[in-house]
Amino acid sequence: SDDSSAADADADLPEGVERRPFGGRERLSTRGAQVYGEPVDSDGWRAWDAGRSKLGAMLELGMDTGLVGGESVLYLGAASGTTVSHVADFAGPTYAVEFAPRPVRDLLGVAEDRDNLFPLLKDARDPESYAHVVESGIDCLVMDVATRGQATVAVRNRQFLADDGRLLMAVKARSEDVTAEPDDVFDDVLAELDSAYELLETARLDRFHADHLGIVARPK
Ligand code: SAM
Repeated sequence: SDDSSAADADADLPEGVERRPFGGRERLSTRGAQVYGEPVDSDGWRAWDAGRSKLGAMLELGMDTGLVGGESVLYLGAASGTTVSHVADFAGPTYAVEFAPRPVRDLLGVAEDRDNLFPLLKDARDPESYAHVVESGIDCLVMDVATRGQATVAVRNRQFLADDGRLLMAVKARSEDVTAEPDDVFDDVLAELDSAYELLETARLDRFHADHLGIVARPK
């Protein structure tokens, strides 16, 4: 029935992520300090806008992320912290890498309200530059870098992941090649990931993010 599928969908959400009513509509939410003007309810839950978050879209679309809540996370491409703020609300230690100084200033403000969020002004193509800070055996590598070479970044950062960890990755087709067919770009990315990861699930995120592919994989 519809009821049981709704319950099943919720069962896939990590602890600390709930569907709650905002403005008469059920939305994903986490509990924490407000960050980007998102609605916050009287219990302190704040709506997680899947239209502004690829990981939010992956959860909204029911992808099996393997997230249960409380895990350690390495997040690449944190920008000013829209998504990683929600991640830090339900995860354990959350290392947030971003190489553009301006958004990192905002990210530092987001981290002030979250003891488990560690912003790193670093280039994700150069993991050795933060290897001394980030613990090894990370449970979950989240990637949203939206630049050319997204698969290469995923492969280079494989070293941080626990053997039973997960890669949760959003690929933006146009970042690789503005003229190519998105499906061709995604095929190339998946082929390159194959050297380091076993693919578990993919889904187009177009309902929320045009020409993006969501990927769930585990290290080989
Ligand atoms: N994940 C963010 C969110 O949901 O709130 C949005 C991220 S935005 C699509 C992509 C970000 O990746 C940009 O802020 C960009 O500066 C950053 N980025 C791109 N290449 C990077 C690299 N090599 N190292 C670190 N950050 C990078």
